[in-house]
Amino acid sequence: MTLQEQLVELHELDARVRGMSRRLKAATARQKTTETRLDLFRRQHQELHDQLRACQVKASTLEKRVAEMDSRIDTLRQRMNSVTSNKEYSALLLEVNTLKVDKGKIEDETLEQMAQVEQVKQKLAEAQRRIEDQQKLVAGAQREVVEARAEVGAKLDEATALRDAAAANVPAEVLSIFNRMAELFDGEAVCGIEEQDRRRMEYTCGGCYMTVPVERVNALITRPNELILCPNCSRILTISTDLKQAIGAAK
Ligand SMILES: [Zn+2]
Repeated sequence: MTLQEQLVELHELDARVRGMSRRLKAATARQKTTETRLDLFRRQHQELHDQLRACQVKASTLEKRVAEMDSRIDTLRQRMNSVTSNKEYSALLLEVNTLKVDKGKIEDETLEQMAQVEQVKQKLAEAQRRIEDQQKLVAGAQREVVEARAEVGAKLDEATALRDAAAANVPAEVLSIFNRMAELFDGEAVCGIEEQDRRRMEYTCGGCYMTVPVERVNALITRPNELILCPNCSRILTISTDLKQAIGAAK
């Protein structure tokens, strides 16, 4: 087998592998995307959960302070019943009134805090629903990956082994060019020469459609063990048997 024949074979086997793995890759990518979103929703849920805790602690602290103030007011009132001097009575009354004003403020604050607790609870419930919906999407995406694997898995392994065997026959430096071009051009590393006008010896690259000098076309025919690249897109050029014979016959 000439180098060119090896490259044509490698290209065909590589194209099969790429085609098969495309579905698998797409399914795997979808799974990853859905899982990343699920992670995000879980983090949001955790943040809301922490927020709820903080609000609840604050609300219960405020409630405790109100209760303490109530009991202090009770104590002061009892003392007011037993005092004998007006001055002492007035002082106690002033303290009771001041406490009542302060207590009113703290009660308002408590109500605000409890309203916030309710708000965060609602957000938390929404976050929980989002997580559950997303979990369904993740499960669906995971099923798709399993199905895609089951469908192409064995065939893909087989095709990959054939591709790798063909690649092993190609010299390392040529293979590295093939792989680089296949990466750059989504598997289209090898392009056939196309004939535009035989009489005027006009040929183009089947990949980029730019002119290929006739010297390179001749090199493809006379030196099939050499690597010939497109001067424009740098991909590996090959020539079909039909075109080779047609050009040979014309000479
Ligand atoms: Zn080209």
